[in-house]
Amino acid sequence: MSSFEIQIREELESLSADGLLRTVDSIETGCFSQITIDGQTFLNFCSNNYLALNGHPYIANAMKKAIDLWGTSCSASRLIVGSIKLFEEAEERLAGFKRKEAALIFPSGYQANVSVIATLASSEDNIFSDQLNHASIIDGCKLSRAKLSIYRHRDVNNLEDLLKNSKSRRKIIVTDGVFSMDGDIAPLKEISELADRYDAVVIVDDAHATGVLGKDGKGTLELFDLQQKKNIMVLGTGGKALGVGGAFFCCPDYIKQYLINKSRGFIYTTATVPAIPAGLMASLDVIVNEPDRRKRLHELSNYFHQRLKAEGFMTSKTPSHILPLIIGDNQKVIDMALILRKNGIYVKPIRFPTVPKGTERIRFSLTSHHTKEDVDKVIDIIKSYILLR
Ligand code: PMP
Repeated sequence: MSSFEIQIREELESLSADGLLRTVDSIETGCFSQITIDGQTFLNFCSNNYLALNGHPYIANAMKKAIDLWGTSCSASRLIVGSIKLFEEAEERLAGFKRKEAALIFPSGYQANVSVIATLASSEDNIFSDQLNHASIIDGCKLSRAKLSIYRHRDVNNLEDLLKNSKSRRKIIVTDGVFSMDGDIAPLKEISELADRYDAVVIVDDAHATGVLGKDGKGTLELFDLQQKKNIMVLGTGGKALGVGGAFFCCPDYIKQYLINKSRGFIYTTATVPAIPAGLMASLDVIVNEPDRRKRLHELSNYFHQRLKAEGFMTSKTPSHILPLIIGDNQKVIDMALILRKNGIYVKPIRFPTVPKGTERIRFSLTSHHTKEDVDKVIDIIKSYILLR
């Protein structure tokens, strides 16, 4: 065995010994609210299919039509081969949805965050990043080589102290809109005020809020009535509530032009498939036309949150469609996930490094297809597990 292979194998063994080895389950159905693995059917509490739009016939038809009309591939980067009109049309619609001047589609949210942040900041600049921001934001910050100031989770006083002392050229505040592993919401009103006061711009990663929060599902900026703010830019992803895939960064037009010229994750990648912009536009139609999906999701989130609190379980302070059950121990969270799975509930133990050590958890993500009975079943299983210990 080469020393390379020995080292890699040793690392895998050490992950396994620490109970941190990750494996990928093979699902025999689509990723819907019920999934089948090894012939067993589970209620799926792991997907970000919040509005249950995955497979929606209207969206599926739009995507199929796009394949027929525009083909299965874009064949090269948009700068090299040109951009099929579908992208421009979708970008106009997406920008309008977020009430921004322009939008730029990326193949994924991870790629968009890494690429946008690394393009807009460099070594002369200062990025202010919430402690619990998504990995793609963290990676974008690292790649940018900007000075990185990490503020305590949702702590605007701490953020202000850091802003006050910064002498850097550009100040960029980056935050998740809804935090992916905690389900809580960034204090965007206060962050926006600080940005105005300290001449900073804000990037909000609305991966988990797009389609879900705000009166019309436009995300956290709509929720806080901040859509018109020129110094706030926002990322939306298409693979979660929108039920499609891809991602879009919404910003002033001059930033879009800058990204087209400088953003390596846009320039040096093949454009995503034509079905994606078509699906994104169809999904926006459904989000507008079927507000009941959002309503049901919020009712269920409140119900689940109330039940977790009433049973004395540790969860987030406020309800959202992402609800953590904090266990705080690696082995116990693995056991809890196993018990739930044995009882037909598909969840994953969320461990370090996805969350800090000592905050290991089960992350429940709800969809508008779940029911109160599903939630009751989950609570009963958790209670019986706690009683057994
Ligand atoms: N931001 C956040 C907050 C996320 O949770 C995720 C995905 N888990 C992403 C960005 C990346 O999006 P995508 O899955 O489209 O790459």
